[in-house]
Amino acid sequence: MEDRKVVLVTGAARGIGREIALIMAEKGYDISLNFRTKSDELDKLKEIIEEKGVRCFLVQGDVTHFEETEKIVEETIKEFGKIDVLVNNAGITKDGLLMRMAKDDFEKVIDTNLVGTFNMTRNVIPHMVKQKSGRIINISSVVGVVGNAGQTNYSASKAGIIGFTKSLAKEVASRNILVNAVAPGFISTDMTSILADSVKENINNQIPLKKMGTAEDVAKVVKFLASEDSSYITGQVINVDGGMVM
Ligand code: NDP
Repeated sequence: MEDRKVVLVTGAARGIGREIALIMAEKGYDISLNFRTKSDELDKLKEIIEEKGVRCFLVQGDVTHFEETEKIVEETIKEFGKIDVLVNNAGITKDGLLMRMAKDDFEKVIDTNLVGTFNMTRNVIPHMVKQKSGRIINISSVVGVVGNAGQTNYSASKAGIIGFTKSLAKEVASRNILVNAVAPGFISTDMTSILADSVKENINNQIPLKKMGTAEDVAKVVKFLASEDSSYITGQVINVDGGMVM
């Protein structure tokens, strides 16, 4: 059997995670595709990935539950024998002004975006330490860098991911494990499709490149951070935002 590299992507059934899985498959990685909700689309996605000549393993699990992340990692190791790259992509929003925000809406977002990233990474790192190599790529957001009214929960979670990324990068650099974050701006996916057209137009006007990004724009940077071309980069946050934050 060919010795291909293995990438585990969380929340990869749709949106940015799906595109990351597709681009990494194109690049020749075997894909461990984590999903939370079963859908008819999943088998089709597995087929599309396998048509690229690599293997695709579908693994269900909710990243907010530590035991489930243990299982996601164990099953991936059982299937492929290793994990070379972990992409912590699963994420949610529950927007609202702080004055009206329910505690549950704050906690759910932190639990998914930040604790979920911890849960997955905590289970993957021992394998990477043992194999003396690895890449962790965390999907943050520019909102974690500059803040956004109506997103105290989301921006706290994404800023937390940035601190987590930098601290872990320092902890594991000597083990040849590189840890970086990608901070997308506004990207056209289900997450942003809920915005009113007038809001989207307003957003586009604030972006120097005058348009929202695509999932592919983000996936291409993840591909770079997983590759040998980025072997001297760790602890960094790369904004993919059409120039919104500079
Ligand atoms: P989508 O809403 O399109 O997709 C999110 C994915 O995450 C879904 O597959 C969803 O699964 C999965 N997910 C959510 N919660 C969990 C969980 N507890 N366990 C496992 N999987 C889960 O979002 P995007 O593709 O737009 O976003 C992907 C990442 O990029 C997120 O971290 C987001 O915060 C970040 N991002 C997005 C931006 C944008 O403009 N779109 C901008 C900046 C950052 P399910 O189908 O079960 O809901």
